[in-house]
Amino acid sequence: MNSYDVAVIGSGPGGYVAAIRCAQLGMKTAIIEKYSTLGGTCLNVGCIPSKALLSSSHHYEEATKHFEEHGIEIPGEIKVNLEKMIARKQAVVDQTTGGIDFLMKKNNIDVYEGLGSFIDATHIKIEGKDAGEIEAKNIIIATGSKPSNLPFINLDKERIITSTEALKLKEVPSHLMIIGGGVIGLELGQVYRRLGAEVTVIEYMDRIIPTMDAGLSKELNKVFKKAKCNMMVSHKVKSVERKGDEVVIKAENKKGEVIEFKGDYCLVSVGRRPYTDGLNAEAAGVKLNDRGQVEVNEHLQTNVSNIYAIGDVVRGAMLAHKAEEEGVFVAETLAGQKPHIDYNLIPGVVYTWPEVAAVGKTEEELKEAGTEYKVGQFPFRALGRARASGDIDGFVKILADKTTDEVLGVHMIGARCADLIAEAVTAMEFRASAEDISRYSHAHPTFAEAVKEAALAATEDRALHV
Ligand code: FAD
Ligand code: NAD
Repeated sequence: MNSYDVAVIGSGPGGYVAAIRCAQLGMKTAIIEKYSTLGGTCLNVGCIPSKALLSSSHHYEEATKHFEEHGIEIPGEIKVNLEKMIARKQAVVDQTTGGIDFLMKKNNIDVYEGLGSFIDATHIKIEGKDAGEIEAKNIIIATGSKPSNLPFINLDKERIITSTEALKLKEVPSHLMIIGGGVIGLELGQVYRRLGAEVTVIEYMDRIIPTMDAGLSKELNKVFKKAKCNMMVSHKVKSVERKGDEVVIKAENKKGEVIEFKGDYCLVSVGRRPYTDGLNAEAAGVKLNDRGQVEVNEHLQTNVSNIYAIGDVVRGAMLAHKAEEEGVFVAETLAGQKPHIDYNLIPGVVYTWPEVAAVGKTEEELKEAGTEYKVGQFPFRALGRARASGDIDGFVKILADKTTDEVLGVHMIGARCADLIAEAVTAMEFRASAEDISRYSHAHPTFAEAVKEAALAATEDRALHV
């Protein structure tokens, strides 16, 4: 039987990064993955394929709606070849997952293909291509998550689908109805809206992206409405039924009226659940909590001292970069180091266009905590760079402590915000004040100038360009 210092179960961004860091730190490492490709949800059916389709559909929208204003004329009709678009997405996925194979080899990590299940706290059974048993001193559970569902919905995966199927549709829906106005619903909703589908978003809460700052929800809602999406907030879905090629949704609004929606596809995007099916965690004595998450302490250690858990299968944001941080954290803990993660500084991004990005506290959270704060906001439309490219929607908002001026939260919606948020994370990591940000130089003309201007506005209400 092969023996290891560490065995990692699951090869998503949590698991494969943990394995690499363990190997870098000199531990003999194995990784077990039930699918034939590495990379988990993120690389196979999550972050990467969704961003590939967002990019392709964005190009299409630019070509059909904006090229002309830039003086670019395309003779003849511009058409979508969905099959080719999906094939390109798959090629991007294959290249990326192939990159993980390379990294495993480079770091001398043994890869086992098959379902990993606990025999006891130091032994794992593998069922599948590389069937057998291995032994490990330490085990990291990185088994990720799967789409959640509502109890009364029968996900047939043809017309009533999850994100996984929505990433490989064979036709552009006539009417895509989306249950859940969160990240997945909005990203994939935008893809298919751009490609020509009618899109209806049915959200239970009173605003889309309800966990983000309300200012961002409002602005993004405007963008979707401008694109003629039907935005049905405060609607509670009561039933979803397939009738031939049609799907009928009944939802109740705030007044208690039942509204009926009919379309050819229904995407259910109401969150994801931690995934431990088949893991046999009980054989090792590993406790799950009542939400099905593997329970961990502040060191990401389970109740069994040599078993750790990371990523979507434990508490916290279900984000690839959070899983990665946790993978590194556990590897370094096992090597005797004292790593640290500041969960308040894990940024959140929605890759719609305009992009939405945030880090730190929202205004709602600061109010609830009774923290006195000041706000500096700057609109992209006042930036030369935004006007030059024609991306004038959105703003940057900086929330700073009223007394100390320390930046407590940064919330932005606009072009390239997914990348701009890194500046806010860096500043907050070093506990910058709004004035600090306002005093260092930002290249001109850039979108990043909006961050400087918002900081000036927060410092002394002295933005220069509004
Ligand atoms: P996962 O990536 O889920 O990987 C877990 C792996 O474990 C899987 O490969 C699974 O097959 C394997 N596994 C499970 N059980 C076993 C077992 N018993 N034996 C062997 N193998 C097992 N996050 C972002 O940060 N940015 C984004 O842009 C983004 N976009 C997303 C888009 C979509 C459509 C979706 C669905 C998710 C997106 N996410 C995004 C979320 C992101 O994918 C997850 O947060 C991330 O993948 C979690 O990583 P993980 O390593 O914890 O688990
Ligand atoms: P989510 O939590 O972002 O959104 C789910 C939405 O569904 C929420 O707005 C919620 O209020 C709503 N909802 C819940 N029950 C409902 C009901 N009965 N009727 C109507 N609406 C209902 O979840 P998601 O969009 O499914 O994404 C799952 C996870 O994947 C998220 O945690 C997210 O972090 C991750 N993800 C991240 C990215 C990214 O980082 N860009 C992209 C996609 C997914």
